[in-house]
Amino acid sequence: MTGPVYDVVIIGAGPAGIQAAIHSSRKKTDVLMLGRLDNSALQAAHVENYACIDGVQAGRDLLETGHRQVEKFGARIEPQDVLKISQADDLFHLELEAGDTIAARTIIFAMGVSKKKLAVPGERELAGMGVSYCVDCDANFYRNATVAVVGDRSAAVDGALTLLGYADKVYLITRKLDVSPELQKRLQQSEVEVLENTWV
Ligand SMILES: Cc1cc2nc3c(=O)[nH]c(=O)nc-3n(C[C@H](O)[C@H](O)[C@H](O)COP(=O)(O)OP(=O)(O)OC[C@H]3O[C@@H](n4cnc5c(N)ncnc54)[C@H](O)[C@@H]3O)c2cc1C
Repeated sequence: MTGPVYDVVIIGAGPAGIQAAIHSSRKKTDVLMLGRLDNSALQAAHVENYACIDGVQAGRDLLETGHRQVEKFGARIEPQDVLKISQADDLFHLELEAGDTIAARTIIFAMGVSKKKLAVPGERELAGMGVSYCVDCDANFYRNATVAVVGDRSAAVDGALTLLGYADKVYLITRKLDVSPELQKRLQQSEVEVLENTWV
């Protein structure tokens, strides 16, 4: 196996990876951050709930600032995916999508989470412009609006109940509810309009 050896390789170039890269590179370590800015969940977001940031900021702008900070502290950024990791000679060996191999003494995983998607036309294009995957992040953007929550489980029901505190009208679109009797009772007693046996 060939290629450079890094003290720390961070897999993921979103907020978690950026923060890890900033802290690691300030400690006189050789740091490489892997991953694409475009693939961060934040790049489509409009953020207004980060401490010390006033107003609504484009997630992409925040990411670009973060990437500049990472480079300022001396870390390298490589916008590639890792395809394979193996271990030999007390090192991790990472195979990248362009075919090169690098080695790391330490790996930090910061690949985010993937949201369950509906996979319907328009969903991707409208993400961050009315289509959202996080009630706690985005409820405030739906103040006085009509909102439909799609889902069958507790996150959807809890999300719909939370949205009642913001939106004028909340629908819950569900194929078949799969929640505890207690949560179901709270839903029935609420003003959420439930559309059961319904597919989007
Ligand atoms: C529409 C929308 C609005 C949002 N609004 C807000 C908000 O207002 N406030 C808020 O706090 N949060 C908001 N969020 C959530 C926020 O975007 C996430 O919490 C945040 O991006 C998570 O950061 P992360 O670094 O863990 O993961 P991500 O930002 O998702 O980054 C994951 C990184 O891992 C990389 N990666 C994955 N697999 C590999 C691999 N094999 N090799 C190399 N790299 C890999 C990707 O390229 C990417 O760079 C919103 C999300 C969405 C989708």
